Amino acid sequence: MSYFFVLGKTVPLPIIVINMNLESIVRKNIFNLKPYSSARDEFKGEASVYLDANESPYNLHYNRYPDPLQERLKERISRIKKINPAQIFLGNGSDEAIDLIFRIFCEPAEDNVVAIEPTYGMYKVCADINNVGYKKVLLDENFQLDAEPILAAADKHTKVIFLCSPNNPSGNLLNRSEMRKVVERFSGIVIIDEAYIDFSSEPSWLNDLDKYENLIILHTFSKAWGLASLRCGMAFASEEIIALFNKVKYPYNLSTLVQQTVLEQLSAGDTCKTEWVSQILKERKPLIAALKTLPVVEKVYPSDANFLLAKVNDANGIYKKLVENGVIVRNRNSISLCGNCLRITVGTKEENETLIDSLKMLK
Ligand SMILES: *Cc1c(COP(=O)(O)O)cnc(C)c1O
Repeated sequence: MSYFFVLGKTVPLPIIVINMNLESIVRKNIFNLKPYSSARDEFKGEASVYLDANESPYNLHYNRYPDPLQERLKERISRIKKINPAQIFLGNGSDEAIDLIFRIFCEPAEDNVVAIEPTYGMYKVCADINNVGYKKVLLDENFQLDAEPILAAADKHTKVIFLCSPNNPSGNLLNRSEMRKVVERFSGIVIIDEAYIDFSSEPSWLNDLDKYENLIILHTFSKAWGLASLRCGMAFASEEIIALFNKVKYPYNLSTLVQQTVLEQLSAGDTCKTEWVSQILKERKPLIAALKTLPVVEKVYPSDANFLLAKVNDANGIYKKLVENGVIVRNRNSISLCGNCLRITVGTKEENETLIDSLKMLK
């Protein structure tokens, strides 16, 4: 961090200047790309006769192309998240944003990314699809982050570092000051995936977005908002980075039905979401307590999310028996640091009780 002197005292600079040169990080073909310009890009506004997009004049409600930049929805989200609409990208889940990050920044067969391990599986899958190197840096035994090995793993071809907090599958928040070191010292892009931030006790990194021009934050409607079926995820970044997302995305990446339904769901602001989150957090407590009393459960890791990682005596066997009882959890046995671990989503009181009853019947 940089410091300067005020009246004899050393104070951190209020704005951190990371001399990131966006042009040097973005793939050349993407930086120079002239994007497809759709009919709905070229004419915006109200008219009485639309003969510009080869749409059918019949079958009202479905016959028109959607708004390519989802302006009404972004305006609503901007009020909820308190962020400028030009700093929002909306995609087919945050998975679309993850894929676009590779396509925008990483030259296939040349560049690489660094990610914590274990973490969300899509980062590696998108790296493999895009033929981009993927370097894993193991978290410690409590799934905690140390900035030094992450920064040390980055080389001159590393364009992006992936952090996920609260992390999946471990459920914990990463240490904020270690995350800050990564964001402040890495001169490429840092992703902070906050898919579970609504369940956590800590504030979002959104409050810090304008301090860091190399930061991309991911949120989603799939978890706390209960809208996984709609496929709508968000990326927040500088206007310049969001402009790159808009250039590369499919022109009509969110259907009118998705835009309208999400908009409706947000009409009451975030009151429903807040109620559901507090219900899930309330149910998480007795679920943790019940799991801890079971002889097959060796450890329940601390969680800042709507799921728990539990170490059991035989994850494969228990997983199978739960399936036979019609209860499906996620077997994470083969994931780094997660030997014999099951990942359990917090459900309703009744669902959690069914799980516990099934586990009680095991030795
Ligand atoms: C569930 C999840 C997502 C969300 O994916 P969507 O494509 O928005 O449904 C993103 N990141 C992490 C870590 C997740 O667990």
